[in-house]
Amino acid sequence: MARGQLLLSGTGRLLMAQPHAAEPPGTLSPWAMLIRDGRIGWVGSPEEAPTADRWEDLGSALVSPGLVDSHTHPVFAGDRSGEAAARLAGEPYGAGGILRTVAATRDAPDTELQALVEDRFRAALASGTTSVEAKSGYGLTVAEELRSLRIIGSAAALVGLRVVRTFLGAHAVPSEAESAEAYVEMVITDMLPAVAGHGEFCDVFCDRGFFTPAQAEAVLTAARGHGMGLKLHADQLARTGAAELGVRLGAASVDHLEQLDPSGVAALASSATVATLLPGPALAMRSTLPPARALLDARASVALATDANAGTYTNPSMPLVIGLGATLLEMTVQEAVTAATVGGAAAIGLSHEIGLLREGLTADVVAWDAEHEGAFALRLGAVRPTRIWIGGEERALS
Ligand SMILES: [Zn+2]
Repeated sequence: MARGQLLLSGTGRLLMAQPHAAEPPGTLSPWAMLIRDGRIGWVGSPEEAPTADRWEDLGSALVSPGLVDSHTHPVFAGDRSGEAAARLAGEPYGAGGILRTVAATRDAPDTELQALVEDRFRAALASGTTSVEAKSGYGLTVAEELRSLRIIGSAAALVGLRVVRTFLGAHAVPSEAESAEAYVEMVITDMLPAVAGHGEFCDVFCDRGFFTPAQAEAVLTAARGHGMGLKLHADQLARTGAAELGVRLGAASVDHLEQLDPSGVAALASSATVATLLPGPALAMRSTLPPARALLDARASVALATDANAGTYTNPSMPLVIGLGATLLEMTVQEAVTAATVGGAAAIGLSHEIGLLREGLTADVVAWDAEHEGAFALRLGAVRPTRIWIGGEERALS
């Protein structure tokens, strides 16, 4: 029920989360929380709780803010499992795989593509994600990129997931383009004016074999002119300096960062740009791991996200990503939870609305089949939500 008052309480741990990953975890136990008109009206101890129309006891369950997956590529058709196997057998990663997905996606009718995206959003919700950032980028024409952004919006509305849409026309150079330069020009002059009202962010795959920092800067500067927020796929395959470019342009986030060095860490630490780390594809591609510990120690803002995409990693589970953050990336479990909530909210420009269980914020709340956040590491990938509220409205879990 989005309207009226609901009092939730429990004897377990309420992860209120803190605005910065370096802060103490901010746990309350026992706890009570008032949800009023879709928002958190009050949080405190049960004996001080205000009265409400309804009351629900969540017992000893661990309760956290809804998880925020701030980096996904859900609009695609086709299957690239064979490519993943070949890559693990030694084949290099390049743009060819993305172009295979582009061909399969362009061939898919609207109904098929919409059903695929709905399924992916349902799987995300079922694993505790309440807000998702979703990119286009497997269309690479004006019409196809618009179709992807439209499907993201309609699928998210149908599933009931909060979404921000990101235009990623500069994902790869399509095979029909005369040159990378000509394609970048097309992205700037044809695509951006057409998609500007259909996406909150613009992203560029700035890396070796994809788009150069100069091309990324041209696209992002133009996107900013259209009022879009900025993101960058940065320093994943090679250290190109894309992280510093993102900082200089005021990007909301720079994502991947497997090749980031100490100077890049310092640049991010002294900025408001979020360092979004994606341990899933790093693990699946046997990549160098991003310097999570150095970023956190330098007090950079860090987010964790899935990067669920067609070719390098498809798993939408944020609980698994939290577990990988705490194991593979040497984060504490509390830092990993914060990166998957507060960090993700900052990366999609919604810090004022979501990511924390604080009075005034939107009531996105998840109860887990666990009693302590350590379960995200102990039961790597197997922690499940038992109850989910988005904007104060409970969602059915199948
Ligand atoms: Zn990505």
